[in-house]
Amino acid sequence: MCGIVGIFGHAEAAKLSYLGLYALQHRGQESAGIVAAEGPRLTRRGGMGHVAEIFSREVLEQLPGRVAIGHTRYSTAGDSNPANAQPFLLQHHRGPIAVAHNGNLVDAAAIRAELEADGAIFQTTTDTEVLLHLIARSRAADVVDAIVEAVRAVHGAFSLLFLVPGRLIAVRDPMGFRPLSLGRVDGAWVLASETCAFDLLGAENVREIERGEIVVVDVAGVHSFKPLAPMRPAPCAFEHVYFARPDSAVFGQSVQAVRKRLGEELWREHPAEADLVVPVPDSGTYAGLGYAAASGIPFELGLVRNHYVGRTFIEPSQQIRNFGVRVKLNPIRETLAGKRIVLIDDSLVRGTTSKKILQMCRDAGAREVHLRISCPPTVGPCYYGIDTPRRDELIASTKSVAEIRRFVGADSLAYLSLEGMMRAIGGEEERWCTACWTDRHPVPVPREGEGQLRLFEKSRR
Ligand code: AMP
Repeated sequence: MCGIVGIFGHAEAAKLSYLGLYALQHRGQESAGIVAAEGPRLTRRGGMGHVAEIFSREVLEQLPGRVAIGHTRYSTAGDSNPANAQPFLLQHHRGPIAVAHNGNLVDAAAIRAELEADGAIFQTTTDTEVLLHLIARSRAADVVDAIVEAVRAVHGAFSLLFLVPGRLIAVRDPMGFRPLSLGRVDGAWVLASETCAFDLLGAENVREIERGEIVVVDVAGVHSFKPLAPMRPAPCAFEHVYFARPDSAVFGQSVQAVRKRLGEELWREHPAEADLVVPVPDSGTYAGLGYAAASGIPFELGLVRNHYVGRTFIEPSQQIRNFGVRVKLNPIRETLAGKRIVLIDDSLVRGTTSKKILQMCRDAGAREVHLRISCPPTVGPCYYGIDTPRRDELIASTKSVAEIRRFVGADSLAYLSLEGMMRAIGGEEERWCTACWTDRHPVPVPREGEGQLRLFEKSRR
């Protein structure tokens, strides 16, 4: 998963990109970068870590120009190392080009093997670099035509921003897996994965880039093309369930409103007799609000989250029970002691976090813990840009709900049904990607085990 942002036509393009990345930090905490363009010259700065760690005032001043793109990375394809930090910037026969990618190309490994057999030398281990090779090899005179050729040749999920001198080019794959929106501020154009970035910039939300659309922004304005063959829509439903920020609108809907409806449906399908609704912050908060509103059971923040946990922390050599979870979450004994609680989380992936949180609630004196999950059991790995573990690590792919209940140690456990989830999100299931729950993949996937997923553990938020 990643966050991308682009600015066209602003004296402080790099600074605005930085702010945009700040708002998109939740989409990737591993590395971040910005490329800015001044006339024919493109400059890149970036590194490993959080946006605030990488960009100081001095670094931003090294990025002159009125056009810029930025990226926060949460790797799904390729290793976690500085060479893989985006945006990529390189020179090819048409001049400099930079790219920022959110998504995952399912056929990148196969195309890369072909290109390598033909003599291509790759500098990174990412799927995105494949696109740059295809663009460089295209015979098209204009770079936009070369980009069209390249994106026609690949399959999977891609919301992309390209920067070339004088132009910013945005592309969304024909199924529209990942979000991308267009905004306007002070006469400049903004592109961002989520609208929460527009709010921070004081930008107006103009519209979402359509699936299969290519938007070229230059001094004359915004030009829209539809050069990709139309396909069924498959926006990622997990963006609404977990990934996007609640203050964003993605795929035309307010994320917090969808999450509250997920919680309401969850109550209707799986009521529980309890004294309190307690969400797992922050992921379960809005579904918890919906569950509480529908049930009339009081909502309490019985778990408090520390938001300042950095990428690494030093563990004491003497083992502290549940240290890894406790450093992020702490139960409030006064709230939980003696109470029957409904614990709400958005998803249960491997089950290890829930098990620890449940133990924490019990240690704090909760009398009963009824776990409710605001989406169906996660049984399918994602090949479109969400970092989920391998299939055999997905607890619901090998265990029944009763077995999972025992594993996490809940008094009861229930998941929202697929139908309930679709009612909350709106529209038919065939118009969304629901592969994590149905294992039905809208774009055929590579062989099992060839997936993306190495960093789930590290990048969990
Ligand atoms: P676990 O069941 O231990 O794997 O952890 C599930 C928790 O991780 C839930 O609270 C989710 O909010 C969160 N989560 C779900 N998917 C992801 C993901 N792709 N990356 C990081 N965290 C996730």
